[in-house]
Amino acid sequence: CGIVGYIGKRSSQQILVEGLKKLEYRGYDSAGVAVHTGEGLHISKAKGRIRELENKLELQPLEGFAGIGHTRWATHGKPSDENSHPHADQSMKISVVHNGIIENHMQLKEELEQLGYNFLSETDTEVISHLIAHYYQNDLVKAVQKAVSRIKGAFAIAVLSEHEPDKLIAVRWASPLIIGVGEGENFIGSDIPAILEHTRDVYILSDGEMAVLTRDKVELMTLEGNFIAKQLLRIDWDV
Ligand code: GLU
Repeated sequence: CGIVGYIGKRSSQQILVEGLKKLEYRGYDSAGVAVHTGEGLHISKAKGRIRELENKLELQPLEGFAGIGHTRWATHGKPSDENSHPHADQSMKISVVHNGIIENHMQLKEELEQLGYNFLSETDTEVISHLIAHYYQNDLVKAVQKAVSRIKGAFAIAVLSEHEPDKLIAVRWASPLIIGVGEGENFIGSDIPAILEHTRDVYILSDGEMAVLTRDKVELMTLEGNFIAKQLLRIDWDV
């Protein structure tokens, strides 16, 4: 299972798919990407090998400069197109990929359903996209922080939203996640090999930390929103 993310000046689709291939060694049963195109947020995902996703993308390419990608190792809900990530909120404006397990997803799902949110998948992950939508009030970072404060378990999460398409948000708790820092472009990965082709400067997120990426900047903060300074690591080995 793996996560990748790209924001910059190049077309994201290929970078995301190649990054996912570098994470194949971690095992997976389905794959997907979300890209912000000129027409908004678009998701393409498929059960099976990354090749299945590539076939879909060949028929319907997603052109855009920001995107997130995922390989899934199903824990809640069978491997299927619907259960594949990214997952979105009802308005299709917020997309989320997640590795790990949300332990209190049943209780949150019940609460969200009572508020009128409809679920399209059987995953534990989908509560996150609806929670972010629920808390969104013109501040995506705050909405993600509020959503994450409600969930228990293990998670590495990446978020891309049409509300604020100039940023990616990454959150880590008990599931690995790193940030790659480039020039006019920045990256998210579950592991260094996913991004090593593009940059050798990385931040390794610790538990309880999040990153907000734009093309030109990476901000690191705690889940409570306190900014943190962290050592940028220079990777001098090859894969
Ligand atoms: N628990 C999530 C699911 O089953 C994420 C699994 C993963 O780590 O890929 O969809």
